[in-house]
Amino acid sequence: MNNSARVIILGAGHAGGTLASVLRERGHTGPITLIGDEPYPPYNRPPLSKAYIQGKTELGALLLKTPDYYQEQQIDLLTGVTASAIDRAGQQLILTDGRKLAYDKLVIATGARPRELPIDGIHLDNVLALRTARDAEQLRARFADHGGHAVLIGGGYIGLELAASAISMGLSVTVIEREPHLLARVASEPLSRFFQQQHEQRGVRFVLASQALELIGTDRVEAIRLSNGDTLACDLVLVGAGVVANTELAAEAGLTCDNGIMVNLHGQTNDPDIYAIGDVSARPLPLYGHRIARVESVPNAMEQARLAAAHMLGQEQPKPEVQWFWSDQYEFKLQIAGMAFECDQTLIRGEPASGKFTVLRLRQGVLQAAECINSPVDFMGAKQLIASQQPLDPARLTDLSCKLKDALPVTA
Ligand code: FAD
Ligand code: NAP
Repeated sequence: MNNSARVIILGAGHAGGTLASVLRERGHTGPITLIGDEPYPPYNRPPLSKAYIQGKTELGALLLKTPDYYQEQQIDLLTGVTASAIDRAGQQLILTDGRKLAYDKLVIATGARPRELPIDGIHLDNVLALRTARDAEQLRARFADHGGHAVLIGGGYIGLELAASAISMGLSVTVIEREPHLLARVASEPLSRFFQQQHEQRGVRFVLASQALELIGTDRVEAIRLSNGDTLACDLVLVGAGVVANTELAAEAGLTCDNGIMVNLHGQTNDPDIYAIGDVSARPLPLYGHRIARVESVPNAMEQARLAAAHMLGQEQPKPEVQWFWSDQYEFKLQIAGMAFECDQTLIRGEPASGKFTVLRLRQGVLQAAECINSPVDFMGAKQLIASQQPLDPARLTDLSCKLKDALPVTA
């Protein structure tokens, strides 16, 4: 695109916010408009379930850039503004207030929203989900006001991080998970067992292989009925049952969607003037045979922003990155490198009881993913091994006297 091209970024979250600044840093001088329906400039969501909900940090500290930055960089940031349609033929974005904004390149970065469970009672008072800073503020106030028994539906990242926060704020906590083990979508069984033990030692109760059938109460939720036949009294229900990508505008505009807006490695949709990045996009993963997946993480949002910026500006594409994730629960820092598709071997490096270990997941001898607890050196080494895509010797991988990065076979 030329330097005067008008870029509109729809969605002022992690992906959209990063893209706006990367475009300026890489030399785009034309107009950039960044539009978001939340009332704030782009901010970091990860602390919402951790330090922010516990009142240990304020929103100002979560902002990706100071509010002045957007003015200084001549990025037109429109907050509290919602788009309602994309007119592809006229190359304009239509806002709910009727305004029509013309674009040369449009980037959809509308993220995802919490999945709403189709069960009775889901709209009762004190049934909450967590995606935005506003949600976190409400949740923090309820934690502080009511105390009592919180039931978390979903034993994924949201459920477990909120369980750790709620228990440290003095609530009693039960987590309901549909799968037979926790973090089922994102982690191995040894890691899931480790986190379950740590939470149980601190008082969290789990009901596994069970799901919520109904929330009971007159105005406010008073109890939850489960598929295992139990009914639990509760004061608060938090739903962390996964997310749904915000693809509606793209689908209505005729862009190809399949659990996410389908894009190529550069973030381009089937319309060459429209890109999609972050949680809303379904992208190819070059290190995993170009398998298509929606990757819900901050590192992915940032990588896709850099890939799209380079492509729009006709610059050299950055090398594909190894996907990575992290989670903080109590004193444990989990860092996951890679993604564990179709693994056939699981190795444990170190001793889980020590609170410092790594689970390695391989396919045909090639490392696909590593889940590292309090082991940042293993995490760095694992990223290199995953990027190499070479078969590895299991004995070296589990030998603590050998650094992971040194487990690569020496090539002649
Ligand atoms: P978002 O950040 O969701 O931004 C999308 C924005 O677009 C939102 O502001 C949305 O309101 C707006 N929008 C949607 N539709 C419209 C419209 N029609 N008009 C205008 N605006 C619109 N990831 C990690 O890697 N590590 C973590 O530890 C971690 N912790 C998390 C904790 C919590 C509580 C949550 C909720 C998420 C966490 N994540 C974590 C996930 C991470 O935050 C997301 O992957 C990341 O925010 C994705 O960025 P995004 O820009 O694609 O979407
Ligand atoms: P998630 O990781 O998809 O986990 C949701 C869990 O809830 C799944 O195990 C799911 O089981 C279960 N579930 C679904 N419906 C249920 C029901 N009716 N009853 C009981 N269990 C049910 O999603 P999440 O934890 O809600 O997180 C939301 C988003 O925030 C994700 O994008 C996540 O990546 C992000 N996030 C990330 C971090 C981090 O990276 N540290 C932290 C917080 C949030 P099934 O698999 O069977 O559906």
